[in-house]
Amino acid sequence: MAYDSFWCPEAAVTLHRDPEQLERQRRAQGVRLNPRMVDHESQTAAISGYAVSLNACTCMDAAIRRLPCKHMYRLASYLKVFPRGEGMSIMEKTNVRRFFEGFCWAVPVAFVDAVAVCHFGQGDVLYDTELAYVGPWSEARNHIRYSVQVKYPSRGRSESIAVSEAAFKTNWHSPIEFEITDYALGSTTTVRTTQGRLYSLLRTGEIAILNEQIPNPMPTLHAELFRAMKREGEPARIAGALRSLVARPLGGCVFAMPYDPCYALLREKHLVVKYALEAEAPTSVHVVSPEQLGVSLDNYCAPTLRVAAFLVSCNDPLRINAVLKEGLYKPESALPAEKQRFDVTRHGILYPDGRELGKAGSVQIGA
Ligand SMILES: [Zn+2]
Repeated sequence: MAYDSFWCPEAAVTLHRDPEQLERQRRAQGVRLNPRMVDHESQTAAISGYAVSLNACTCMDAAIRRLPCKHMYRLASYLKVFPRGEGMSIMEKTNVRRFFEGFCWAVPVAFVDAVAVCHFGQGDVLYDTELAYVGPWSEARNHIRYSVQVKYPSRGRSESIAVSEAAFKTNWHSPIEFEITDYALGSTTTVRTTQGRLYSLLRTGEIAILNEQIPNPMPTLHAELFRAMKREGEPARIAGALRSLVARPLGGCVFAMPYDPCYALLREKHLVVKYALEAEAPTSVHVVSPEQLGVSLDNYCAPTLRVAAFLVSCNDPLRINAVLKEGLYKPESALPAEKQRFDVTRHGILYPDGRELGKAGSVQIGA
């Protein structure tokens, strides 16, 4: 299992938003699935004749996929661990972590689309502390130093999520107008600047970044991270770093790829790879920050960027290459069959043998 628990915050922005999982959440609402004999202590129940817990279920779907089935969602909803319907709302209704790591301000994960494309819009309100969200407002406001309320642009729909990286770069320089309130001084100022500067304010907490005279470099996004990971000598070095981070001996193949729970594209890719590899052989997934791997980047990394490393208990890199191809390859029908080649290096770094990590580095494997 890739998550500490299926009901952890990371799962809410990855696993539970997967279309397959959303479908199971929808099915969980069926009236015939009323839990019987619910044991609140052990958090188990009998539903439609199956023995259900928050981690497992005796039904076929759970046995095959080893992911939450409709029975588990129904139980989770019954126990109020997970609300019915949209996966995202887990963040709003439970006490699990609700804010992005890597930002100095308290940026709720509900802002996932705004963060992904660097586009905050009218009505968005942000605070410099998580305490702004705790308790009654009369109490919460005592903890706040700054807040931002966006006035312009009007909030667009998240139509550009699939091309989010290009959208991020465009939006970084686009204008924004917001009111910033200083609770200590009791003053509110209107600021006209760029989306990129607001993003940097949220990331660093430095009010000075709103000053146009100060340089404001755009963060490294996943395409640049991937280029950096593949630079001469880097794959072998990353392997060494992985070896010291992963607290178990590396055997079998390892596949490392950029990952960002904010980007729909990478989120889907991550799930595709995970399911495909798990179906082939026992696989453990490790999600680490580029800093932890010591990848050298020209700028700082977008706070949500990670590297996902899949450790597969299989010693046959050709087999793993084929499994990855099955999951990731989208044939271009315009090309003749002999020209349709799958290049695993376009998606990640495949290490043929975990035990050789740090010595051999990656190998190129043809289609
Ligand atoms: Zn089930």
